Amino acid sequence: KLHNQVQELKGNIRVFARVRPALAHEAESPDGVAEIKYGDERKEAETGQSEITFKSRSETAMGKEREQVHSFLFDKVFDPSAGQKDVFEEISMLAQSVLDGYNVCIFAYGQTGSGKSWTMEGGDSDETAGMIPRAIDMIFTASAHLKDRGWKYQMEGQFLEVYNEVINDLLGSGQFDTKKHEIKHDKEGKMSVTDAVSIPLSNPRQVHTLLDRAKSRRAVAATLMNERSSRSHSVFTLKVRGVNPLTDESCEAMLNLVDLAGSERLASSGADSNKDRMKETININKSLSALADVIGALGQGQAGGHVPYRNSTLTRLLQSGLSGSSKTLMMCNLSPLSAHLGETLCSLRFATKVN
Ligand code: ADP
Repeated sequence: KLHNQVQELKGNIRVFARVRPALAHEAESPDGVAEIKYGDERKEAETGQSEITFKSRSETAMGKEREQVHSFLFDKVFDPSAGQKDVFEEISMLAQSVLDGYNVCIFAYGQTGSGKSWTMEGGDSDETAGMIPRAIDMIFTASAHLKDRGWKYQMEGQFLEVYNEVINDLLGSGQFDTKKHEIKHDKEGKMSVTDAVSIPLSNPRQVHTLLDRAKSRRAVAATLMNERSSRSHSVFTLKVRGVNPLTDESCEAMLNLVDLAGSERLASSGADSNKDRMKETININKSLSALADVIGALGQGQAGGHVPYRNSTLTRLLQSGLSGSSKTLMMCNLSPLSAHLGETLCSLRFATKVN
């Protein structure tokens, strides 16, 4: 209960960090794993924030070794030992509030290879399943319980991809999406994407079929277009409509689960010489900074003031989901490797911007 009150006080934007474990083949990478310290639990309980500290070593112009300490505060930090279940425990209440009429957005941010897809989709087993399947299962279970109190829910799933500022439907028919999708707002301000497929869902199994379908479509695009999936944002949306004839109440909300494009800068993606890559990177940077600006503005209580949604396709697409009574979680995924420290620090700084 107290925990919930603390959360209310902190507003509706939360930023978490998760460091993935070093993979088997990475153990013998040149500088190995970076020196990372995690804040202690007692301090966390007091402040409601967790700290993460990275040490970096560099050489000064005089040839001396310089050690620097970089500390960042998050609402929660997961070290490499945290399993999918541990992470979901901190997210489940948030995801469940979609049934109470809150729009919920969960983002995975980080460089390619930092664990975004693992966090969102995860592996095939129950133990390794990521946040999307867990959130869906939990929402269906919770909605079944609410039936006893008279609530009836209708759910629909949509799965879109934003690549180079263009929307592709991952659930459309055929191997490729040839339709041109536009974002439309009706008179009541309700947003929709033209010609995007929405699939009615009556049980969690159907959602998993839908996710598999989207995944295989992304895989086809990836082999043809050079790892495109890491260069695009994927947005899974669960639309929930609830009515309660007993109390005459109703609610409508959506859960957006977003696997963001890799945040790596141009040089480290080896993109310098390739025009297409350069265009991708410019579009990714543009949309990620537009997202940071939107979340930053919402976090400063400017919901009634100006929130710059219009600066990218991603933020326009998520406008309804982020505004109104909405709750947002940004998961900042981090690599533990020394070789990735430069990108890791960039990710941490980005996360502080929205925090
Ligand atoms: P991204 O989506 O950010 O490009 P991935 O999710 O594909 O990164 O993760 C990169 C690799 O690390 C994958 O092989 C993935 O299975 C593995 N991985 C990431 N996070 C974890 C984790 N917490 N536990 C075990 N393996 C992980």
